[in-house]
Amino acid sequence: MLKLTDVSVNYGSFTAIKHVNIEVTEGEIVVLLGANGAGKSTTFRAISGINKLDNGEIYFQNRAIGGRAPDKNVQAGIVQCAEGRKLFPQMTVQENLRMGAYVHRRKKTEIKHSLENVYELFPILKEKHHHDAGSLSGGQQQMLAIGRALMSKPKLLMLDEPSVGLAPLIVEQMFQVIEEINREGITLLLAEQNANAALSIADKGYVFENGEIVVQGTANELLANDDVRKAYIGA
Ligand code: ATP
Repeated sequence: MLKLTDVSVNYGSFTAIKHVNIEVTEGEIVVLLGANGAGKSTTFRAISGINKLDNGEIYFQNRAIGGRAPDKNVQAGIVQCAEGRKLFPQMTVQENLRMGAYVHRRKKTEIKHSLENVYELFPILKEKHHHDAGSLSGGQQQMLAIGRALMSKPKLLMLDEPSVGLAPLIVEQMFQVIEEINREGITLLLAEQNANAALSIADKGYVFENGEIVVQGTANELLANDDVRKAYIGA
């Protein structure tokens, strides 16, 4: 479904990601691991079309998409849910969700169906649908951001640190919902610091260090890898 071949991205004279190769098969959950600044977000921005490529190519459903405008990528089904959340705090939960639907020309009944689907995944959003987004807790805002991304009908959903800053119990719920989204047929690419939880739901993963992929493998291989455990799992 998604393939990055030899992708590099520079910020001025600084190379943020170097010769990155990633392959995501339809239906998978793939996780990008690595410390802050290792290059995960840059990789996401390159896939979204926000960052230009300085080398290599990105293919989505067998079409080269490197350098394509972000809105075209969203229409094609590549949807990123940003780490910064970027909600509209003075709009209600429901209004925020509806904003996610405007990237496509869609029938009202279809939008209603998507909304019901999001409310099924996140009952708390239904409960609070008339509340301002700004009044939600951090975890609820993160759920709203994911819900809004789902409203734009992703084929590939990219989540940048979905568990960051959440209480342990909410983290667990978050990963359960991610699995549920995947069961609905959406392919997922996650950037995570929480390697243990992410690998426990993922099919495979890539470990970034200083802009390069240094280890890759199935989730089980990475969980069993001593270097990965030492660096990211703490065992
Ligand atoms: P984080 O979890 O902190 O976002 P990350 O793994 O996603 O980490 P990136 O955000 O991709 O890492 O950053 C990779 C490198 O590029 C870092 O050294 C960062 O300082 C640098 N960088 C990121 N954005 C810019 C920018 N706009 N201009 C210059 N350097 C940048």
